[in-house]
Amino acid sequence: MTTDIQSNLEAKNGAYAAEFTKGHLPLPPGKEYLVVTCMDARIDTAAAFGIDLGDAHVIRNAGGSSRDALRSILISEQLLGTQEIVLIKHTGCGMLTFTNEDAHALVQKNLGPAAAAEIATLDFLPFPELDQAVRDDVLFLQKQNTIPESIAVSGWVYSVETGRVRRVV
Ligand SMILES: [Zn+2]
Repeated sequence: MTTDIQSNLEAKNGAYAAEFTKGHLPLPPGKEYLVVTCMDARIDTAAAFGIDLGDAHVIRNAGGSSRDALRSILISEQLLGTQEIVLIKHTGCGMLTFTNEDAHALVQKNLGPAAAAEIATLDFLPFPELDQAVRDDVLFLQKQNTIPESIAVSGWVYSVETGRVRRVV
């Protein structure tokens, strides 16, 4: 069975690959930086943040969490040479809309006690205030012994309403 999603992938990729000319790019990001941002479907990271193919690592997760991204950040820096971190959260983020208690209760209700027990200690990393969450995440990164002071870290908010970024820290 092939779903519509799978059919779309095959069709659009066929067209993409037919025009593809960037097979020569090296593994390490050419501009030696990484972006941490949210998985939100409304963020076109390449177009909105000026990232050409091969320029940067883009690490995406729910909320653009630096804690959640730490494993990938360390691989990016230690194995692949990135020297700068750009953290970008966004307006209208789903992480502003619930608490850890809400999420755990939802899992319990929808999936039952075994599922709830399995993730009993999981922090969903929601945040109640956007700019503060950006500052907290930047501070978290700056405090890590695994991230040297030579690594520049900045924090931003992207507006899904206007397409603009605004620097927070
Ligand atoms: Zn989000």
